[in-house]
Amino acid sequence: MIQILDLREQYAALKPQIDAAIMGVLESGTFIGGPNVAAFENEIAAYVGTRYAVGLNSGTDALTLALRALDIGPGDEVITTPFTFAATTEAIVNVGARPTFADIDSVTYNLDPSRIRSAITPRTKAILPVHLYGAPANMDEIVALARRHGLAIVEDCAQAIGADCGGRRVGSIGDVGCFSFFPSKNLGAFGDGGMITTNDERLARRVRRLRAHGASVKYHHEEPGYNSRLDELQAAILRVKLPHLEGWIAERRSIAAAYHRGLRSLSALTLPARGGVGRHVFHQYTIGVDARDDVKAALAAAGVQTMVYYPEPLHLQPIHHGLRYKAGDFPESERAAARVLSLPIYPELGSERLAAVVEAVASAVERPLALAAR
Ligand SMILES: *Cc1c(COP(=O)(O)O)cnc(C)c1O
Repeated sequence: MIQILDLREQYAALKPQIDAAIMGVLESGTFIGGPNVAAFENEIAAYVGTRYAVGLNSGTDALTLALRALDIGPGDEVITTPFTFAATTEAIVNVGARPTFADIDSVTYNLDPSRIRSAITPRTKAILPVHLYGAPANMDEIVALARRHGLAIVEDCAQAIGADCGGRRVGSIGDVGCFSFFPSKNLGAFGDGGMITTNDERLARRVRRLRAHGASVKYHHEEPGYNSRLDELQAAILRVKLPHLEGWIAERRSIAAAYHRGLRSLSALTLPARGGVGRHVFHQYTIGVDARDDVKAALAAAGVQTMVYYPEPLHLQPIHHGLRYKAGDFPESERAAARVLSLPIYPELGSERLAAVVEAVASAVERPLALAAR
């Protein structure tokens, strides 16, 4: 089976450095809030291009604490996409605010700026674009819209570290960027981890306080916060990996280019947009195809693992029944959920496996049922 992602080869390549980093932490006796966390925060701030970065224990918490630090809560609305991982809207709901959806662009699968305007109400406090699959959202237009209406911007960069838009890295464009170091992300820890990035000193300070039970001075608690810290072990591991990120992104982009060359003649497929508003880091290589589930089954039968990110748009899921959306409200998101299929992509995939995937996709698209029955 060609897996959609295999993390073992990356570890094998970096084993001596990673093992040494882990042993260093074990021997230091410092596991929470040590030198690796502080150094990694500085390294991410420099990489993303912001003045501040604050380590947290997940991307979900990054979104939650960012919203809290912006004083978004009950009575407030946050505009986002229904075509994303549930953590995006879960964070909005968990701070007491209400997600309001705007549909996506059919080509990039990201928020369509022209559809955001009609979702703005007097209660709207922020726009929360997601850079889905590693493709930057159209930040120029989102920033212009937010400025005009006095709204904050929280970027969900969980899938997109290193992507850029008009030469600026995602996470440095809005008021705050939210990153995840979940193992399968482009920069993955050996457990959970997250980070916020910002140029706003006050906001950075507030997130630091929120991550430590609302206390900026130990045992003096100014507000209810969270226990949400990035730990020393994960930071030490991530510090070994960060210098390789640009090389991995280059590999992902060259795999995407090879997929494009191999698949472009198949007219049944919708391939990821090329060009776009900035650098795509291909967290996923996602095609669109009708009868997607048959194609997926055919590929599985041919030994190729694929995934559907995501099979059900959030406005139709039980978690948001209270918002009273219905089928047909966001047709592009619904169409995407029915058609998307993500193919294997990771820096170590290699040209042989890639060629096998291309061949399997071609036969699966031509005769999905025959292959599945084999
Ligand atoms: C992974 C992900 C998150 C959540 O990150 P965790 O670290 O798993 O909490 C949020 N948003 C998107 C778009 C993601 O892909």
